[in-house]
Amino acid sequence: MVTKKDKQLTQQEVCPIGIVDCEWVEKISQLQQENEHLNTLVSTDPLTGLFNFRYFQKILDAEFQRTIRGGRPTSLIMIDIDFFKAVNDKWGHEAGNVALKTAAQVFQRELRQFDVICRYGGEEFVIILPQTPLPMAVKTAERIRVSLQHQQVKLDNASIHITASFGVNVFQSGHEMSHEAFVESVDQYLYQAKEQGRNRVCYPDFASIKSEASVSADEKAALFGKS
Ligand code: GH3
Ligand code: MG
Ligand code: MG
Repeated sequence: MVTKKDKQLTQQEVCPIGIVDCEWVEKISQLQQENEHLNTLVSTDPLTGLFNFRYFQKILDAEFQRTIRGGRPTSLIMIDIDFFKAVNDKWGHEAGNVALKTAAQVFQRELRQFDVICRYGGEEFVIILPQTPLPMAVKTAERIRVSLQHQQVKLDNASIHITASFGVNVFQSGHEMSHEAFVESVDQYLYQAKEQGRNRVCYPDFASIKSEASVSADEKAALFGKS
């Protein structure tokens, strides 16, 4: 049971200037909730519930700044569903939407809580992996790729499978690159994955990435199952 004293304490916490029995407390609390809701709306993609492009840009910029200030590397994965137009053509636009939502669920299931999964637009997605060197990002992309290809997409009268192509790259302190150029480089690896036959992950040579992103024995073992 909430006593009058408890109520006063709660009000004291919520009232911005600490007035007990403040007559505006309820209104302020309601506005705070509405504000939170609006913040969620402006950063969320309505179809998949993932973050949207606008939020992606904001977070990538923040993670870039963190890396530049001497933080650990920031990796980026870009994903494009393969032959998605054919899915729409064969099964209809609504079925295509179900496939996009299913893909989003696979990404959410396979990633860590602090990875930032965004719908980049259409059937393209991007994932920011803060504080993650390239080999770990590649391993993550590979895990998502396999998980997606095995995932059933349940439609009204059928169950189908989809695959996706992946580009991955890393940004680390010492790199002199705008984030537009960095995103473009990831897009180029995605393009390679399409060119090489789709349903695969493309990324730079580990050997070409210096310092923190170079491959340690542990990371090699994690990637290839042996040291
Ligand atoms: P590729 O393997 O080269 O990526 O081929 P693709 O067919 O996936 O690529 P393309 O760019 O030709 O087609 C993308 C399709 O994605 C066309 C567009 O109608 C569809 N699409 C984009 N956004 C949505 C959406 O929100 N819902 C549905 N159902 N389809 C979408
Ligand atoms: Mg596309
Ligand atoms: Mg596509």
